[in-house]
Amino acid sequence: MKKVVKFGGSSCASAAQFKKVGDIIRGEDARRYVVVSAPGKRYNADTKVTDMLYKAYALAEKDEDFTKVLDDIKARYQEIIDGLGLSLNLDDEFKTIAEQFKAHAGSDYAASRGEYLNGLVAANYLGYEFIDAADVIFFDNDGNFLPDETNDVLSKRLEGVDRAVVPGFYGSKLDGTVKTFSRGGSDVTGSIVAKAVHADIYENWTDVSGFLVADPRIIDRPKAITMITYKELRELAYMGAGVLHEDAIFPVRKEGIPINIRNTNAPDDPGTMIVESTCAKSEYTITGIAGKKGFVGVYIEKDMMNSEIGFGRKVLQAFEDYNISFEHMPSGIDTMTIVVHQSEFEQKEQQVLAAIHRLAQPDTVNLVTDMALIAVVGRGMKDNRGTAGRIFSALAHAHINIMMIDQGSSEQNIIIGVDNKDFEMAIRAIYDIFVTTRS
Ligand code: ASP
Repeated sequence: MKKVVKFGGSSCASAAQFKKVGDIIRGEDARRYVVVSAPGKRYNADTKVTDMLYKAYALAEKDEDFTKVLDDIKARYQEIIDGLGLSLNLDDEFKTIAEQFKAHAGSDYAASRGEYLNGLVAANYLGYEFIDAADVIFFDNDGNFLPDETNDVLSKRLEGVDRAVVPGFYGSKLDGTVKTFSRGGSDVTGSIVAKAVHADIYENWTDVSGFLVADPRIIDRPKAITMITYKELRELAYMGAGVLHEDAIFPVRKEGIPINIRNTNAPDDPGTMIVESTCAKSEYTITGIAGKKGFVGVYIEKDMMNSEIGFGRKVLQAFEDYNISFEHMPSGIDTMTIVVHQSEFEQKEQQVLAAIHRLAQPDTVNLVTDMALIAVVGRGMKDNRGTAGRIFSALAHAHINIMMIDQGSSEQNIIIGVDNKDFEMAIRAIYDIFVTTRS
């Protein structure tokens, strides 16, 4: 049994948190490959080391004095080192970092030092080998991640290495400069390492006990999701259910390696298991509900639209020309609606509307603004009659008007558009009908 374990920023924020990490790792012999984030927040108003590094580098870029911020960062690591009783000395590392900052090594280099230094601390504390991510994770010179090159080098490097720490979040471009993933990217590193060592499982340790059926800011103590498929997760994550970086599923998904989200502060909780597919039925018909506010529907009408070949393409061309990605496209016989993010659309709305008229000559174009989209996701829907019916009657009982409905043929996902102001109430109504009353 081989496990890759990734610990997020809050799990490594202080010596006390690091001790929990040590106990978890030593608790199971299989936990052999460790990926760490930079130290995160110790309390709500605290600042993440990554953010402190960006701040210090912004000063360095303007050739202003960054020593104070860098000293504060050093103090964060020293507190951990002292608290763990280690004799590790990071003086030389900080000297190099200061020199590189002065030489304008780049903000990616700066941000990556959070994970790099924390990797050194973790390796020293655990007695594991340290492997610099810059030597084993690669990006092309435009900054695109190179999965095959990375996997070749990383899997060879880890062959015969019994236990190692790899810092998360960064790698290097082919020209040797350091490049980071987007924020939260240590999750991606964990997934890449899990693939390279053919791990049996990728444990992602964070500060919550996995995914919840709905947002706890809207539902009071929502139920946890024990098992979710990659596909369901993708649908929910797209609608804003955070916990795991969006790109973290791709490397392991192809290999059939499950991800287990676990809580460093409650290590006995089973967390959420993310799998390719499963016989396990979800406890409720639905697996989760997620949503976002701030969409606009561009509602287009044209007589005989259904028989005009190429109409849809011409309409979409107008959005493409202005670099606006569309989210959904429900249609009727002579109507179609293009759903886009309002904030993105607003800046270019008149140009896009003119382009639609020019390219597709519709009869009318209307805007349905301030719409929230709610995704009700679940593999259990496929075998259950009446899921949509229950959603709609729950919303009707709550006096909520439905502005749009979209169901993909996968039968795993129903998207409902409601007015922004009805968003929270709609989520509560749907949660109640499926989870609270379990009808
Ligand atoms: N430390 C980085 C961030 O704050 C990456 C990570 O934690 O995954 O985004």
